Amino acid sequence: MLEPQSILISESDIQQRVRELGAQISDDYADRELVLLGVLRGAVLFYADLARAISLPLRFEFLQLASYYDDTKPSQVQLIRGGSDYLAGRHVLIVEDIVDTGHTLKFLIGHLHLLNPKTVKVCTLLDKPSRRETAVSVDYCGFEVPDAFVVGYGLDYAQKYRNLPYIAVVEPEH
Ligand code: 5GP
Repeated sequence: MLEPQSILISESDIQQRVRELGAQISDDYADRELVLLGVLRGAVLFYADLARAISLPLRFEFLQLASYYDDTKPSQVQLIRGGSDYLAGRHVLIVEDIVDTGHTLKFLIGHLHLLNPKTVKVCTLLDKPSRRETAVSVDYCGFEVPDAFVVGYGLDYAQKYRNLPYIAVVEPEH
C-alpha cells in the first residue's frame, strides 16, 4: 500500500497562506461582485477555507472536469458537469487545486469565455511551473511545488488522502 512519504507543506503553513490569499482577493475585488468557481473534486477543501477568508459577498459555483491521458498526445480534458449561464457578465475567480501541465486550466478558460463572463482570473493552491506544457496565467498562487506527486488537502492518489490536512509527497512504487 502506498503511504505519503513526507510532509511538504504543513497544515499551519497552508492555513496562514490561505488567509493571506483571502485578504489579497478581498482587496482586489472590493466593491465588485465575485463568483468563486470551484473545480471539483480536488479544490474542495481549499475552496471552503478560501471562501471563509474572503470578506466579500460571494456567489458559489462549481464544475467538474475529467482528463484523459495518452502517451502520444497531450491530455484531453472534458467538462463533466457545471458551468452555469449565471457566469455571463460576472467577475469569475477559478479556484483550482494544482496547475501542472496547464492543459486543464487552458481548456477551462476557453470554455468559460464561451459563457461571456466580465473577467476570469485564476487562484490555485499549488503550482508546478517546471511541468508546464502550455502557457497559462495564474493570478493567485498558494505555493510553488517541485516536480513530485503530491496528495492531501483535497488532492488524491486513486481517491485516497484527500482528507489529510497537509500536503505530502507520494513516492510511486517500483
Ligand atoms: P494539468 O492539466 O495542469 O496537467 O493537471 C491538472 C490536474 O492534474 C489537477 O487538477 C490534478 O487533478 C492533477 N494533478 C496534477 N499534478 C498532481 C499531483 O501532484 N497530485 C495530484 N493528486 N493531482 C495532480
